[in-house]
This record gives sequence, C-alpha cells and structure tokens, in this order.
Amino acid sequence: MQTIEKYNFKGKRAIIRVDFNVPLNKQTFEVTDDTRIRGALPTIKKVLADGGSAILMSHLGRPDGKPQEKFSLKHIIPAVNKVLGVEVKFAGDCMGETAKQMTASIKPGEVVLLENLRFYEEEEGKPYHLGENPTEEEKKAGKAKVKESQKAFVKQLASYADCYVNDAFGTAHRAHASTALIAEYFKNDSMFGFLIEAELKAMDKVLNEAQRPFTAIMGGAKVSDKILIIENLLNRVDNLIIGGGMTYTFIKAQGGKIGNSICEADKLELALEILNKAKAKGVKVYIPVDAVNADAFDANANTCISKTNETPDGWMGLDIADETIKQFSSVIENSKTILWNGPMGVFEMEKFAKGTSSIAQAIANATAKGAFSLIGGGDSVAAINKNKLADKVSYVSTGGGAMLEYMEGKELPGIKAIRG
Ligand code: AMP
Repeated sequence: MQTIEKYNFKGKRAIIRVDFNVPLNKQTFEVTDDTRIRGALPTIKKVLADGGSAILMSHLGRPDGKPQEKFSLKHIIPAVNKVLGVEVKFAGDCMGETAKQMTASIKPGEVVLLENLRFYEEEEGKPYHLGENPTEEEKKAGKAKVKESQKAFVKQLASYADCYVNDAFGTAHRAHASTALIAEYFKNDSMFGFLIEAELKAMDKVLNEAQRPFTAIMGGAKVSDKILIIENLLNRVDNLIIGGGMTYTFIKAQGGKIGNSICEADKLELALEILNKAKAKGVKVYIPVDAVNADAFDANANTCISKTNETPDGWMGLDIADETIKQFSSVIENSKTILWNGPMGVFEMEKFAKGTSSIAQAIANATAKGAFSLIGGGDSVAAINKNKLADKVSYVSTGGGAMLEYMEGKELPGIKAIRG
C-alpha cells in the first residue's frame, strides 16, 4: 500500500477528497469553525511541498443531488485561502468543461477547488430526482439509473489527476463516488492522507494494542445507537462505564425505579443480555449509582439528587451525581487505555453538565499519567473542547459516524477502497 509520507508528488496532480463540510453562518455564509479545513492542511502541504498540485473535492451539507447556492463551496474559499496561505482557484463545478480545463492546466504549487460533489446525485449514488411519491418500481429503476451514470461521474473525476488521496475521515463510512469508487482508477497511486492515517492509527491502537486496564465509557441518549460498539468492545475491554440517558434502560431492566427518565422499553432484554455477556467475559460494568434529577427537561428545572434506581415519581435523571463521578473517575484514572463516546448527561444545559465535565477531566488526568485516550462522537468532542482539554487527551477523532462504525468492527468503504 502506498503511503503519503513516502509518495513523491513532484510534477503530479493529486485529487484529494477532503472533508470541508464545515459549519457556515446562516446569514453571511462565513465559516464559523475551520477545524476541518485545518485538518486537511498537512496533506495538502505535503503535496505542494513535493512540487505537486492539489485538486480538492468535498461535499458541503445535504443538497440532495442538485446545485443550491447555500451549499456552494465558494463560501469557504476565503477560509481555505487563509488556512493554506495559497490562493485557491475555484472551478465552479465538479463536472463540465471548466473543471476539465482547470485541472488539465494546473501547475505545480497550485490548488483547484471543485464545487460541491453532492450537487450531483451520482456522488452518493442516490436517486434524488424521482418526483413525488415514487412507486417501488420507480425507485428501483431510479437507483439503477444513478448507479449507471455514476460510472461516468467517477471516470471524469479520476481523469483530472495522476494520483488520489483520501483524507475525509468523516465520510469514510459512506460508499460514495469520491470516497469508495474513485480509488480503482489509481491502483498504485492511491493513498490515505495524514488525517485518515492518524485516525486509523489511534483507533487501531485502542482496538488491537490496548494496554490494560482498558476502559470504555459509553454515554449518550440511547442504548440502541451504541449496541454494536458495546458488543464489539465487550471482547476487548476490562471496564465498561455506562452513562447518559441509556443508564435508565439498564436500571429499569434490573427492576429499578426510574421516574420519568428516558428509557427504551423494547431494549430491556438487550440491556440484561449485555450485562450477562459482560459477566461471562469478565468485563466489569459500571452503571451510575446516583443522579441529578430534574422535574422537567429544561435548563431551569428544579433539581434533586437520588439513587438512580430510586428516582422519585415525576422526576427524570439528567446527569450523574457526586458518588458516581467519584467512582467513575477512580476507574478512569487507574486505566491505561480509554475510549470515550457519548456524554454522561444533558451537558448542553449547565445544571446537568458537571458529570460530563468531570469525566472529561478524569480522562485528562489519566492521560497525564501515561494512559492513551481516544475521544470520539460529536458530543464528547464538544465536551472536551468546552472544557479546554483537547490537548490533554491523546486523540480527538474528527469522524463521529465513521469512528463508531470502525469501532463496531465494520469495514468502512472509504478505507477498504485503499487498503484493499
Ligand atoms: P448520543 O447522540 O446518543 O451520543 O446522545 C447525546 C445526547 O444525549 C445529548 O444531546 C444529551 O443531551 C443526551 N442525554 C445525555 N444524558 C441524558 C439523559 N440522562 N436524559 C436524556 N438525554 C440525555
């Protein structure tokens, strides 16, 4: 397999799948967070420093297969110019004659940005233009048609360049034209960018080379979203910490009183199964013992503390309380490998943020003592950033869905296309 570090881009046109799906201000269309643009910088710099040229392709938002002004990548040009320190040339389309000409005449050191790939339904391979209420037959025919036209789409993108780099980890779990299909045109000239390499290294370290004790912390709203990752992790971890809304499915399954707390009534059996499997595998499961309850799902709600299995009627648990924080922190601080996905409570509301912040701090403390810590999932990353701890943990993943799927043990199409 080719690696970006060893590859010499001199005189080569590299088409790079980046993840420039950045948040924009709704009125001014200015980029409000350029983290993802900065994430692609090492890869683009390497291409240019070698004496190559870079053709950048990305999606932005969900334009559903048709051009839409608000999703145009032209909005991000100033931010890209600023981060790169190079004046980017915008092709205005990712297909068509202009894109062909601009990429054909690109010179070493230059950067061309293609327009949003998802302005074409061929990128995702989804039939978006079927009209209202299509029949099953029409849907099937539409899908077959897009798949057919997708070939020409991929071929044209591939024709722009001599080599292909995928650095869009956030979409690596999607089997799209620019992430999974294009690589076959560049047999020995396709590779991951530095960002995907770093993501894979961090995840593989946790999955395959974890030092013990290995603790996984799973939070968030629902068990159903996390079940596959929990099942895969049960084969690997020493400790499984459960937090957030899914706590109450476990508590109820064990016969506890949960008041109005969030609960998936159809997942009670599953929760018990997880506990049994964990026991059989010798994994210690930690479920919150006490909670900060609210009398309404509201930032200004009244609060009270109770045991999680004795939630008073009319109240709902929205955060872990002090006894649990103490217990969880102690397990975390004695771990050598830590994986965190999902908040411990409704951390968006100040009154219910302490549990999540305390766990973030415990992970930082463990990292300072030499543990390897991997944080993934939008909310946990937001919590780490909010507590200014991003540089106090080992790795903060940039891809929520992609990371979850990789940790579930699934093969990601964007990874497989290059790794084989
Ligand atoms: P997820 O996307 O599954 O990781 O869930 C994240 C969401 O779970 C956040 O928006 C939290 O506010 C929410 N959450 C965490 N703890 C609770 C809880 N105890 N009750 C209800 N929602 C919660």
